[in-house]
Amino acid sequence: MKFPFLQLTDVTEPMVAELVAAAGSVIRSGWFLNGPHTREFERNMARLCETEHCVAVSNGLDAIRLSVRALMETGRLKAGDEVMAPANTYIASILPLTEFGLKPVLVEPSPSDYQLDAKDCRRKVTERTRALVTVHLYGTPAWPEGLMRELEAEGVCIIEDNAQAIGARSGAPGLAGTHATGGLGHIAATSFYPTKNVGALGDAGAVTTSDPELAACVRALANYGADRRYHNVMTGYNCRMDEIQAAMLNVKLARMEEGTQRRIEAARAYCESIRNPMLTLPGFSERDRQVWHQFVVRVADGRRDELMQWLAQEGVGTDIHYAVPPHRQPCYWPSLGEDYPVTDMLASEIVSLPIGAVTASDAREIAGILNRFR
Ligand SMILES: *Cc1c(COP(=O)(O)O)cnc(C)c1O
Repeated sequence: MKFPFLQLTDVTEPMVAELVAAAGSVIRSGWFLNGPHTREFERNMARLCETEHCVAVSNGLDAIRLSVRALMETGRLKAGDEVMAPANTYIASILPLTEFGLKPVLVEPSPSDYQLDAKDCRRKVTERTRALVTVHLYGTPAWPEGLMRELEAEGVCIIEDNAQAIGARSGAPGLAGTHATGGLGHIAATSFYPTKNVGALGDAGAVTTSDPELAACVRALANYGADRRYHNVMTGYNCRMDEIQAAMLNVKLARMEEGTQRRIEAARAYCESIRNPMLTLPGFSERDRQVWHQFVVRVADGRRDELMQWLAQEGVGTDIHYAVPPHRQPCYWPSLGEDYPVTDMLASEIVSLPIGAVTASDAREIAGILNRFR
């Protein structure tokens, strides 16, 4: 296949020597957890997200779990409370809610940018709403500033699922310029799953916040609930990040901008070159900085699967994010509700084009192939 959807060897190839050197330094140091690379990683992430604190953790799901649990431990959220989340997200945004006995209230996306529909959100707020998980899906900031200020005024905690948006910035009016995602809400979770924009060579995640109480709580929860050695104040977990992954991520964070710029240029090339009336393209924001974790188009007339097959024959790999939304997963159906027509419509129409390792010129070539589909 000329344009595979994503091959991680293509991503890693230009930095193999640096990664091997960094891994070697960890191996020779004999320090495999909570060492200098982890501390440096936390400083790098806090700087990037423009927050006071970062806690390096095991993966993105744990970063969300720890964020939610910390809000509960600090008395801002309790079992039975309603927590809003987008219906078209990856299931990891929802799992921690049901795990801790919170009640997910799912909000429809806007079909134009796939992000949280502020109107549907306002319609579903009740006096039991205590938190919102906003998901910067596909790398586009999901930060409707007006809605967020209203919710915060009501005492609703905002958790950002920043798994797909490292390096993104919201330019929403009221922010005084732009602000990095991962530092917009009260607490944020980022994933370094290998296929993310910045991927570890295994699992890794991070929690960022400027709230010192939440940061200390997450750090303790991630370390068996201990606030100091052998002193367990909460029933916690082992959610540590490996020192070797922190070292890999420091190499990758230093080169993140190149990757982000490449994604932005490829996305722009797609937007400028795709001219097939059957396809609806994602909006390119002049205000926000989108980091294009996925480039997702909609295919009309029920021909999505046919288009994917045809692209495969033409040497272009594709994927769907996500074909089955959380409310329809067997583990939940029908407990999260059944009436999400926009989410269901999008799930049947969307297809993700290669963006993880393609150049603008590759994108123009792929657009040429798409333009021939009739
Ligand atoms: C990848 C992802 C996660 C989970 O991250 P892991 O590191 O795989 O646990 C959570 N939310 C979203 C939106 C994701 O894309």
